[in-house]
Amino acid sequence: MARIVMKFGGTSVANVERIKSVARKVKAEVDAGNQVGVVVSAMSGVTNQLEGYARDTAPLFDLREYDVVVAAGEQITSGLLSIALQEQGVSARSWLGWQVPIQTDDAHGSARILGIAGEEIVRRMEDGQAAVFAGFQGVDPQGRVTTLGRGGSDTSAVALAAALGADRCDIYTDVDGVYTTDPRIVTKARKLDKITYEEMLEMASQGAKVLQTRAVEMAMKHRVRVQVLSSFEDTPGTLVVDEDEVVEQEVVSGIAYSRDEAKITLTRVPDRPGAAAGIFGPLADEHINVDMIVQNVSAEGGATDLTFTVTRADFDRAMKLLRDRQSEFGFEELRPDQDVVKVSVIGVGMRSHAGVALTMFKALADKGINIQVISTSEIKVSVLIAEEYTELALRSLHTAYGLDAA
Ligand code: ASP
Ligand code: MG
Repeated sequence: MARIVMKFGGTSVANVERIKSVARKVKAEVDAGNQVGVVVSAMSGVTNQLEGYARDTAPLFDLREYDVVVAAGEQITSGLLSIALQEQGVSARSWLGWQVPIQTDDAHGSARILGIAGEEIVRRMEDGQAAVFAGFQGVDPQGRVTTLGRGGSDTSAVALAAALGADRCDIYTDVDGVYTTDPRIVTKARKLDKITYEEMLEMASQGAKVLQTRAVEMAMKHRVRVQVLSSFEDTPGTLVVDEDEVVEQEVVSGIAYSRDEAKITLTRVPDRPGAAAGIFGPLADEHINVDMIVQNVSAEGGATDLTFTVTRADFDRAMKLLRDRQSEFGFEELRPDQDVVKVSVIGVGMRSHAGVALTMFKALADKGINIQVISTSEIKVSVLIAEEYTELALRSLHTAYGLDAA
């Protein structure tokens, strides 16, 4: 007997038929003698629709009211799944964020979970009642409804698994696990049986959309065993686990990519102490996240070119800020480029292996792909390249690191 939290995403609860089929999966776990908590997303497309209503009503809406609107999608599915479970003879009730309560801060639209009071729910689970939670939502210190940011139901599920002391958190979704890279681009991509928290965190933040980054952070912090699996096929998924559980560690476990990048080059920035701080300080003040950075030494002394990347969402604001303060920052020209992609190879095995970056650079060079910016961490090497080479780069790297399926 185990205590488990099951999470179903939007496609898994897209209509009443699918909700009934989710109920059958939950019933199977209950019948097996397990204590079950279920977290649901809104029906697919519903959160977008609700967001649209808010935007159409007023372009600059009150985020506290926005949360009331977008949290509604999960309220519907949690009630419907509870009805479906009861219909199949399973004792169940729904729990909205404020009812649990799932306490969050008051950063409406992207609130952080502060605490979950789970005692009453654990008691009921022990009595055989399935708890069905509306994902994505919580309540702030003033008692107002909050939401956790898009894709936030993953985070709800992991946080509840931690708070309820669950043995496992199963994330049911429309893919059947975590792959070495995007299988829509690389047909030889393989499903991973296991991946470490750290690798998953890098994969998620470098563009792989299987799990919300915050959910992985939370799982890592509380050591929640997460499994990503398909709600439509009956196959084992991918387990996200601690490093010592992965026996045979590949040097590179996965290759991620993100098109959500824009490159900005400032030419002839004065080459003196404080110049970089003078530019990146004001960008940070505007909450513009700078990711990769490279500074080139110019041939003539006194000035250097500075290249960095920002997300596409921040691009316009970054450009405006730089243009407005050109004379203060002292650069000559502003050269933007949005047709770039960041490709990252990821693996905890890199810590103990040399030459990982070199393999990447050679594989790209062989295909005539120019590397524009490089950044590395202990378990990751990222390069920025022209967007048109995304597919070619992913396929070549997948082969170069020996990841291709047989
Ligand atoms: N329904 C929310 C969204 O679409 C939360 C989630 O699905 O995880 O972003
Ligand atoms: Mg999702």
